[in-house]
Amino acid sequence: MANGWGPDGGVQDQIDATVTDAVSAARSRLPSGEGTIECEVCGEEIPLKRRQAIPGVRTCVACQGERDKRPAFSGINRRGNKDSQLR
Ligand SMILES: [Zn+2]
Repeated sequence: MANGWGPDGGVQDQIDATVTDAVSAARSRLPSGEGTIECEVCGEEIPLKRRQAIPGVRTCVACQGERDKRPAFSGINRRGNKDSQLR
């Protein structure tokens, strides 16, 4: 991991990590099972319209927004590491 551009194994590891990130990000955005009336993150009531629009939703708009930011943030981190290695 320390040498991002070392042997093939290192590159494959990075690709695998990216795919895993994408899958888990898609899963976290896709509600499964029954939704909740209150946001499971902050406990605020989820607006009825949101619950009707997204069956199985468990988070309010604000908390879902925070969740959606995380995968992108880790992507930026990875790019930043690569960049610093090239210098
Ligand atoms: Zn919330």
